[in-house]
Amino acid sequence: MSDCLFCKIAKGEIPSSKVYEDEQVFAFLDIDPQAPKHILVIPKTHIQSVAAVTPENAGVVAHIFEVIARIAAEQGFSEGFRVVSNVGEQGGQTVHHLHFHVLAGRDMTWPPG
Ligand code: AMP
Ligand code: ZN
Repeated sequence: MSDCLFCKIAKGEIPSSKVYEDEQVFAFLDIDPQAPKHILVIPKTHIQSVAAVTPENAGVVAHIFEVIARIAAEQGFSEGFRVVSNVGEQGGQTVHHLHFHVLAGRDMTWPPG
């Protein structure tokens, strides 16, 4: 998707504060952090949201969760954090490229609102 913000961030065409990168996945700091640590983890390939995950593209989603576990261990917050993916307008999604918010460093509330 040529006009997708997160496709451009994954390609390095728009600057970001990179946390992790490999062939399939890119992770960077959220520009508007909602917790002391707020990292976004995205596939490099364009997938619209969790609602667009299929048997064909689910492999990268599994890999994203390995990466999240690795980042949590490296950054020292494995004991407690939250992973969120907003889907569609009602779900609060504003960037339509699949991303997982990883939030840590404060107590989380439930329900999330
Ligand atoms: P969502 O609202 O779930 O679609 O999440 C999109 C997230 O992207 C928000 O938390 C924004 O703060 C974040 N965001 C938007 N633009 C940028 C950017 N250029 N760099 C880093 N994070 C961004
Ligand atoms: Zn995209």
